[in-house]
Formats: sequence, structure tokens, C-alpha cells
Amino acid sequence: MPLSGIEKQGAPLNNQIELCIFGKGFGECITIHLGNNQWVIIDSFLNFATKRPIALEYLESLSVDASRNVCLVVATHWHDDHIRGIYEIVKKADNARFVCSQALTNCEFQKFVKRHQTNLMTSVGSKVDEINNIFEFFLSKPENRKYKNPCMASEGKILFELLEPNNSIPLGCKILSLSPSDADVFNFMKNIANMMPENNTPKRSAKRISENQASVVMHVGYGNICLLLGSDMENNHDIDSGWDAIINSDVFSLQKSVIYKVPHHGSVTGHNDRIWEGLLLESPLSVVTPFVNGRVQLPTKDQINSIMSKSLNLLATGLPSNVRNKKRDASVEKEIKSANIKLKPLGAGLGAIRLRSMPLTEAREECHWCVELFGSAVHLA
Ligand SMILES: [Zn+2]
Repeated sequence: MPLSGIEKQGAPLNNQIELCIFGKGFGECITIHLGNNQWVIIDSFLNFATKRPIALEYLESLSVDASRNVCLVVATHWHDDHIRGIYEIVKKADNARFVCSQALTNCEFQKFVKRHQTNLMTSVGSKVDEINNIFEFFLSKPENRKYKNPCMASEGKILFELLEPNNSIPLGCKILSLSPSDADVFNFMKNIANMMPENNTPKRSAKRISENQASVVMHVGYGNICLLLGSDMENNHDIDSGWDAIINSDVFSLQKSVIYKVPHHGSVTGHNDRIWEGLLLESPLSVVTPFVNGRVQLPTKDQINSIMSKSLNLLATGLPSNVRNKKRDASVEKEIKSANIKLKPLGAGLGAIRLRSMPLTEAREECHWCVELFGSAVHLA
């Protein structure tokens, strides 16, 4: 395991909730222990050193058998920083329900159609195309699997529910998807229709949806102990789309969350005051996964300050590059250049934040969390 010491505590107790958020600058992955050795994997990236999905390596380090003990695998959306290795996870966690967004974007849909028009097989050495491999997997031999098709997440859909609480999960557990909205799904369908117009039929205008607005936001609830996982959801300045659609649905009847995975790497476009007012308890524990790709570096300093001002704690899987961007002295710059040293941007290292609850009991009204940081992870406030 590349994150030294993460396996030392061993697996959580059967009645402990665990949320582990991994990031590496370009890559986000979450594992959740629901209780009773039942696990969820959300999104994926590869460990640079071994080229294996970080979630599988982590579960193996705790001696968790992915085939037996992973009950849900979620691809929140098909962006490269969220899905590398997800096909390997789906193959390994072969008894899990696989969840993806009900709305694909034009680009994703075209990729899928193209593959099936030409019936191309992935050639050895070609870039693995996660979306096609997973759909191919579900199209072939469905009789061999517990779940014969993917579960298409949308607003208000129950992805997992434990109806009969037990000693391990005394408060029960329910996982809901809060997106994509009906409007975003319908826009997706209109876009498909536009791709195949009949003769003499004019193309109808359809609003393009971005991958982020189609992403799956999740609410994980154990009685009144709830987590809000914001995926890469953004605002779309349309009451029926993106965060506004979630906020305008009946989600405010849900229990407010105590832990918040900040959406879209802490970008300003993922921020919406009404999330903080309606979906989160006052001063939640917030976690952000910094994003570094060329000149795009998230979160910005202003956003960090804004999230910090609303949170009890703000944890990040790496130090955001915008936190320390003092210009280097010219002589230092020259020295670095002459020695041909390649510098890695801050926030790009592998880090993990693990939050383990105290053992749950039926009587427990509130929950205390043990916070552990690994690798590049930092406590910002
Ligand atoms: Zn992302």
C-alpha cells in the first residue's frame, strides 16, 4: 500500500462507519464501510506505482474480499480523474450493484455508439476505455451475475437500503442519489434524438449538459447521521439543472449531513449557499480533493477561505497549490533549471483522509469521528 501506515489499524469494527477519501491531484476515489464488512466504492484512480485501482489496494490491505464484501460500485461521471480503473473494480467486485448516471453526455454516448457500430475490440496496448468495457461487460453473459444490468442513478433514487437494522448497523442505512435531475436526463435524450433525425425533420434545440451536471450526488444516511458526497456537481444557472435542481427538489426533507465531500474539487462553480443552508448541519466536517491539471488548479484561495468559514474543519487530500504560490527567487529558479529538476505541483501527491465513527449503538444520537490523515493529506483549518 503506497500510503504508509493506512493498514495498521486493521479493518473497522462491524458497527463502525468509515469514510475514506483518496486524492492525488488528478484523481478522486471514496470507500465507505457501511457496517458488517459491507463496502461501497465510489469512483476510481490508479496508484501510479502499481497501476492498480487505489480502492482495491486499500481494501486488500485490510483483508477485505472485494467479491464478497463490496455491495455497491458507483461511477459518479465519466471524467478521467474519476474513472481510471473502475472497470477492474467492477470485474473484481462481481457481486456488487454498479451505479452510473442516467444521463450520459453527447461525447460519452457517441463513444458508446461508435464502439457498437464498428464492433471494435480493444486492441492490446490501446488506452482502456472504461465506459465501453463496462457496458460490454453488462451486455455479455448477464446470466452469470447477481445484478444483470447497471443501476441508472437519478434524482431521489434509492441505491442501497438496509431495511432491517441489526447489531452491526443498528440505525439502518439508506443511500440515495440526488441527481441527475429529470431535466438533465431529458436534455440527454433530446440530444440523442438530435443525433439521428429522420428525413426532412428539423433538428430540435436541446440544451447541452456537461459531464459535471450529469454526475451523481449521494446522500448516505444512518438514522440522523448523514454524509453528503457532492461528486463534481456544479451550478448551471437553471432551476431544473445541476445544484439548483437538487436544491429545488424535496431534498430538504432529508436529514442534514455532518460530513461534506465538497463538490468539484472546491471550485467556485460547485459552490451554492443553499447547500450549506439546507443540506448540511451547521459547521460540518468538510473534505476537499484538490485538482491539478496544467493551469487548472482547484480550489482557489478564496474558495478555501469560504469553505473554511462555514466548516468546523476543512481537510484536503493534498495541500492546494493556490495556498502557497509565492514566487521563487530568480537565483533559485535558475538553480532548479540548470539541475534539470522537475517539480511536482502542490496537491498532486497521493493522500487519504479516513474518518471512522465511534462504534454505533441504537441509542447514539450523535456521532464522534476519529480523523486520520495519510500521505499528502492536510488539515487546512
Ligand atoms: Zn473531478
